[in-house]
Amino acid sequence: MKKPSLKHVLTISWILFVLGILLILFGYWFRAFWLIIAALFVMLAAIIFLAVFNRCPHCGRFLGHAGGASFCPHCGRPLKG
Ligand SMILES: [Zn+2]
Repeated sequence: MKKPSLKHVLTISWILFVLGILLILFGYWFRAFWLIIAALFVMLAAIIFLAVFNRCPHCGRFLGHAGGASFCPHCGRPLKG
């Protein structure tokens, strides 16, 4: 499997987070408790996805908020490409 680029990882995790928030709102509006549970799973998946893929391709360390940066804060090598 081809490793997704950092840009794609951040985009996909943002989409999952927004989806989770929307599901919580819908669950609240429609009094559907299962939607809120589903939302928590979606957001958990986003966190796991970030933890697995939001890493420096050179040193393999977790990037956190530096995922959108140009250089790795740990080894200083470029993150693009
Ligand atoms: Zn690094």
